[in-house]
Amino acid sequence: MPVCWLVSQEETHKPIILPHLQPVVLGRGPETTIKDKKCSREQVELKAECNKCFVNVKQLGVNPTSIDSEVLGQGKEVKMKAGQMLYVVNQLYPYTVQFKEDSGVLSGSCKRPIQVSSVAKGSHAEAPSVKAARQTEQSSSSVKAGESREESVGHWSQGLKASMQDPNMQVFKDDKVVVIKDKYPKARYHWLVLPWESIASLKALRKEHCSLLEHMHKVADQMVQGCLHTSSLNFRSGYHAIPSMSHVHLHVISQDFDSPCLKNKKHWNSFTTEYFIDSQDVIRMLEADGKVTIKEGTSELLKLPLRCHQCCKELPTIPALKQHLKSHFPS
Ligand code: AMP
Ligand code: ZN
Repeated sequence: MPVCWLVSQEETHKPIILPHLQPVVLGRGPETTIKDKKCSREQVELKAECNKCFVNVKQLGVNPTSIDSEVLGQGKEVKMKAGQMLYVVNQLYPYTVQFKEDSGVLSGSCKRPIQVSSVAKGSHAEAPSVKAARQTEQSSSSVKAGESREESVGHWSQGLKASMQDPNMQVFKDDKVVVIKDKYPKARYHWLVLPWESIASLKALRKEHCSLLEHMHKVADQMVQGCLHTSSLNFRSGYHAIPSMSHVHLHVISQDFDSPCLKNKKHWNSFTTEYFIDSQDVIRMLEADGKVTIKEGTSELLKLPLRCHQCCKELPTIPALKQHLKSHFPS
């Protein structure tokens, strides 16, 4: 029978196992890292039916839990399948569910999985038997190309492939690329430029892709030019050294980082350290070496202290950083 995993789309923590037919109650607390007071400590009850590949989701808290855009309502229960999005409260804290055979590997950015004791908030233990932990820790990239099991359309790491085809997400397209709005924007303006050509990640890029990347860069510049009349913000265009989502994507992001979706240190450091590689640098590397090499230790950059990208001041917490950013970027 497959094993069910609950996966944070914002990668705020490791995947959580939902054991077959055992209710798991989640909400504000250490397992989810949710600190929002609007979220009850017992916000949702999740009961996986692993043999049927769905999860019964019941809203326990007062504020709305939703599946995609459907609000459950307190005490109400609905079935959730892979490919749907659970928002724990107020359309925030997105999660997907995945069903994997016991021996399956869990890729994407899934590191060690967490097993939450059923019906308990309380302590959580790592599931030592799961191959996923060993497999993903051996990988320097958080997205592993070539694992056909993980390439299924329903897997969250494949979400950009669906979004790039969705007219509601598209803001520009031509014969080579499409630009979409980032679904969880980390700043006032945040787009992704994706080639139509299926290229899994930076690792798959070769010299012959240079002209495509140059075109993506040009399109990114056009997006920035397009909003200069409404804002005086600075922008950067670049790639995450170790992306979580499959299909090469160029981030175009304003430098205010004024967004409720920017929630944790990993988010911050992924855009403000060398983890974010400027588009031009990737093109230069590809021209010079015929491939993109990611420096050893790059993933450690995500753990650096929070430092303002404007004045280098170190801030102790994300709320303090956000407060500080207001001085540079008044609304
Ligand atoms: P990364 O793979 O780390 O370079 O970043 C992936 C980006 O895709 C993040 O900024 C997410 O907010 C964004 N994202 C995640 N899922 C989707 C989706 N289904 N549609 C559009 N953007 C998404
Ligand atoms: Zn500052």
